[in-house]
Amino acid sequence: MTYSVSPIGYIRSCFKEKFAIPRQPHLAPAARGVLELLPPFDHPDAVQGLEQVSHVWLLFLFHQTLEEKPRLKVRPPRLGGNRSLGVFATRATHRPNGIGQSVVTLDAIEPGRLRLSGIDLLDGTPILDIKPYVPYADAIPAACNTIADASPPVIPVRWTDAARLQAEQHGQRLGEPLADLIEQCLTQDPRPAYQIPSPERRYGVRLWDVDVHWHYPESGIIRVLDIEPTDTTS
Ligand code: SAM
Repeated sequence: MTYSVSPIGYIRSCFKEKFAIPRQPHLAPAARGVLELLPPFDHPDAVQGLEQVSHVWLLFLFHQTLEEKPRLKVRPPRLGGNRSLGVFATRATHRPNGIGQSVVTLDAIEPGRLRLSGIDLLDGTPILDIKPYVPYADAIPAACNTIADASPPVIPVRWTDAARLQAEQHGQRLGEPLADLIEQCLTQDPRPAYQIPSPERRYGVRLWDVDVHWHYPESGIIRVLDIEPTDTTS
């Protein structure tokens, strides 16, 4: 038997590509987005009472990694990408039905949309449902997961003077905590674990409407090189 689901809205997110998105929500509190609700859910009735809630669960589709053939085993980046585990032991994006779930901060409710932060969602992600976070039921102090028993390791992020200034200027223009966002995402070291980067190699990612470039001047350290408006002409 098959069931069909349809989005109740779409996310407009700071993350314009999958690379450098944190692996879970709240690893980058400065990651913000807006959930644009679709009719009929853009009516105030649908969110009445939600102002009493600080965090919401989002159920969504991993729309950029949907696959015809289900995988039973996956190679999570957390394990370096070279060890596999059963799909149900992981939060991998390649999974049956392609459904993801994230607890995010509900910053504001506006007509037809919700302002969110701490997100780990790509721009354009279809949202299937919203549920209030219920602390007494959802927070389980005794819970354990020895595969992922702590947040991923972080590395220091340094800045060139020019990059710091550019981040502050673009952040002001966007009305977004861009420097914090860059720092919070890069400190997770987005590079695939198997890559040994030479200091000459430049990495880049698009956040909002800017391209952020960085390199690894030495092993285990990131230096942000520059932040430039994304070239949309090519
Ligand atoms: N918190 C969610 C969960 O546990 O279901 C997502 C965890 S998943 C490991 C996080 C990764 O999903 C991010 O690093 C990003 O690369 C990827 N991602 C986010 N939105 C996506 C989308 N719409 N389609 C495909 N991949 C996406």
